[in-house]
Amino acid sequence: MNAIFKGTILSPISKNKLLFLKPGYLVISNKGKILELTRSNPRNIYKNFQFYNLSEKLLCPGFIDIHNHLSQLPLIGLSDTNLLIWLNKLVFPHEEKFKSGEIAKQSAEMFFHHLLKNGTTTTSTFVTVHKQATDLAFQSAKESGIRAFIGKVMMDQQVPMNLCEDTQKQLLDSEGLIEKWDGYDEGRLRYVLTPRFAVSCSFSMLKGIGKLARKYNVYVQSHLAESRAEVKLIKELYPDFGSYTDIYYKAGILSQKTIMAHCIYLNEKEIEVLRKTGTKISHCPTANRFLASGIMPYRKLEEKGFTIGLGTDVAGGYSLSMFNEMKEAIETSKMINFINSKKHYKPMTVEEAFYLATLGGAKALSIEQETGSLEKGKSADFLIINYKKLDDYKDNDIFSDPKNILAKIIYCGNKNIVEKVYLRGKKILDINNL
Ligand SMILES: [Zn+2]
Repeated sequence: MNAIFKGTILSPISKNKLLFLKPGYLVISNKGKILELTRSNPRNIYKNFQFYNLSEKLLCPGFIDIHNHLSQLPLIGLSDTNLLIWLNKLVFPHEEKFKSGEIAKQSAEMFFHHLLKNGTTTTSTFVTVHKQATDLAFQSAKESGIRAFIGKVMMDQQVPMNLCEDTQKQLLDSEGLIEKWDGYDEGRLRYVLTPRFAVSCSFSMLKGIGKLARKYNVYVQSHLAESRAEVKLIKELYPDFGSYTDIYYKAGILSQKTIMAHCIYLNEKEIEVLRKTGTKISHCPTANRFLASGIMPYRKLEEKGFTIGLGTDVAGGYSLSMFNEMKEAIETSKMINFINSKKHYKPMTVEEAFYLATLGGAKALSIEQETGSLEKGKSADFLIINYKKLDDYKDNDIFSDPKNILAKIIYCGNKNIVEKVYLRGKKILDINNL
């Protein structure tokens, strides 16, 4: 629909630079692209465009969650232990249920609906080992309109029998899903090869994944160096490799289209290998704290030049909300200063957290030409946020500064302030009609 939205516009330009128009006008074409962002009223130029005056409501790009697990939504908040025990005790028994097409379909529909309700318009998602469940997840993402990177989890060792599949079958199943879904709907759906982590993957399967990634030029996502116990187990399972990263490197799965989650316990050599291969990092601060795994040295990796986005890692993370993820990212970046007194790592700012949750995520997924910020030519994937709901004292001065608006929505906001979600210029979700 051709439309003009008038409101408070806030969008990232870089890690420390914002576009702030108050009021501003966002002009959308009927093809769902952004035509213009302007301070001056463009209604004389775009004469037949529908006009929406949102008063002071906030228009910002939809959030990008670059790491989460579709199957684990019901497990949110359930853990009193660490990663490996949590996987065996809670996650694996639950993922076995996805053999049922009915459960897989319902779960996928619920998952994408909840993501959109939280203002997330792009997601990179692990399903389960089941091919059918993955196919249904794509189907559901397609129907919801969300931009989604989706992959069938691959595991052929160290997991319960019902989740342990034949190596060749998994490679063939993944290839079938790539051919069916990668690039679907103008590239809004992409296939991601998804080995869970090296613990549950044989080296021959990882090598096969590397070959598939190159053959089809598709993405790869996995976990790396999330907890100390996991790193210890990796050393036992892969004694002939120099490090955890070395396994992925030698299997040929590290590239600019690879996104590794967590990256907490890496030595300097590993960091260099990841940097050289152009591997992207998914920072999952909520999950890292919730499963007592550790704190990723964000500033150190950022200063080395890594492209980093944020992942809720549900249900290692206890919330699908990117407001929460931004808050945790800032707070844990402060904590690393306390515990690492030798080097001062500048804590993350609110602008930086907002960048990671939007444009940074888009860069990590190499889709910054398509989404991640409100910019001419990009897809009109945006949110209308009622930030005034957070202003109990009706103090208008506070909101004249974009930094304050960000601070308020990050620290006090949640899905209840996301009033409307637009994908390709089309209203997909309206809190008033739920
Ligand atoms: Zn994860």
